[in-house]
Amino acid sequence: MAPRSDDEFEAALERSDDRGLLARGLGRSYGDCAQNAGGTVIDGPASAAITDIDLEAGLVTATAGTSLDTLMRTMVPLGFFVPVTPGTRMVTIGGAIAADIHGKNHHHAGSWCNHVVSMRLLDGTGTIHEVTPGGDPEVFWATAGGMGLTGAVLDATIAMKPIESSLLSVDTDRAPDLDSVMALMVDGDDDYDYSVAWIDLIAGGSSMGRSVLDRGRFATRDEVVAAGVADPLEFSTSQLPSPPDLVPSGLLNKASIMAFNELWFRKAPSSRVGNLQSIEKFFHPLDMMSDWNRIYGKRGFLQWQFVVPDEAHEVVRRSVERLSGEGISSFLAVLKRMGPGNDGHLSFPIKGWTLALDIPVTAGLDVLLDELDEMVVAAGGRIYLAKDSRVSAELMPAMYPRLDEWREVRAKLDPQGRFRSDLGRRLGLL
Ligand SMILES: Cc1cc2nc3c(=O)[nH]c(=O)nc-3n(C[C@H](O)[C@H](O)[C@H](O)COP(=O)(O)OP(=O)(O)OC[C@H]3O[C@@H](n4cnc5c(N)ncnc54)[C@H](O)[C@@H]3O)c2cc1C
Repeated sequence: MAPRSDDEFEAALERSDDRGLLARGLGRSYGDCAQNAGGTVIDGPASAAITDIDLEAGLVTATAGTSLDTLMRTMVPLGFFVPVTPGTRMVTIGGAIAADIHGKNHHHAGSWCNHVVSMRLLDGTGTIHEVTPGGDPEVFWATAGGMGLTGAVLDATIAMKPIESSLLSVDTDRAPDLDSVMALMVDGDDDYDYSVAWIDLIAGGSSMGRSVLDRGRFATRDEVVAAGVADPLEFSTSQLPSPPDLVPSGLLNKASIMAFNELWFRKAPSSRVGNLQSIEKFFHPLDMMSDWNRIYGKRGFLQWQFVVPDEAHEVVRRSVERLSGEGISSFLAVLKRMGPGNDGHLSFPIKGWTLALDIPVTAGLDVLLDELDEMVVAAGGRIYLAKDSRVSAELMPAMYPRLDEWREVRAKLDPQGRFRSDLGRRLGLL
């Protein structure tokens, strides 16, 4: 269904049957959180629109189906960037709220919902709530990270980040192994707005966890003008051919991934400062290649992302060791540090380390990941629901200790359980 007004959203709720209803964004979640098999799914992007811009206050109001790509194309030339961006800008405001997404700046800026000033939520009773973090914290924080199960977000007002240019000043360091990159991050991340380490998961022995660490901030107007840039706030993107042209089928195997990772590591400078990079190059390299996911072929791939508290940093090393020891052929894994979490009952981030990787599906992978999940949870960590398609429901209460509190708020908002999803059923959230 593609409702375009409050009335049409209410009508969609009225018409949903016992398999329930779910709002969907651009479907960039990796698992089943945006699916509702046999039930109704609302096509959020069908009603995408920016409805208000307050340049003085740095606020933008838009419908939930509006993408971060649209926000950037509109707001960057006006001197504002989204407060948080994931590794793709092809996500919606609704998806960003429902997953309480994080970016390379979590250690400084927190997650998406820390920057949501207000939102309107249609709950399971057909009531539309005007929700602010101060006015109705219970509903706000149950919806922030609530994976679409407290209702459909209709629109939201977001506090944007002022910028003087659309380029980032990036420092790069090549680290020979995992311990070195983690030490660099502990020592220096606080000095940078954004930080991300790309880890080669295939390298073994003394090179295990070798990485390229990219850290940066938006460049000032003076810096980019001095570099000869004519339009400091221009937002431009590029498009490479899609994978079937780029990667002949059957080419993707352990040897080719190893060769790619080797080339990528050698190509990175061992140390470089102040390199000017576009928003797309620094934040969204995969957006340059349409349908990049097809690179994995018919068997597909899954994403595994966990976060563990700082004191459990050993889990990062043990999981990299285990995955590279098992010969898992993955492109780069992404390691980031997170700052403190927020009040979202099911929000993913906690202070510590988060590791995310795409893994081609192979026999035995499920057993290995089950074992790693247990290790993460035993260390006080959790798996990111927006990326999950397989974690055991039994681990939910330990991973998300405020689950029962969230269920109570949801029961008030949706006593008949009309908002449903495959993820909700699989993990026994409903
Ligand atoms: C290449 C890539 C890189 C990524 N990098 C990151 C990253 O760095 N950090 C990060 O946090 N995530 C990352 N993600 C995941 C992505 O940011 C989240 O999964 C996000 O939720 C996707 O938004 P979407 O609009 O595609 O939502 P969908 O995938 O369509 O839906 C996600 C959830 O949002 C709910 N939802 C959608 N619209 C509404 C609405 N209007 N009201 C209520 N609920 C709604 C859905 O029901 C579902 O539960 C990445 C994904 C990709 C593909």
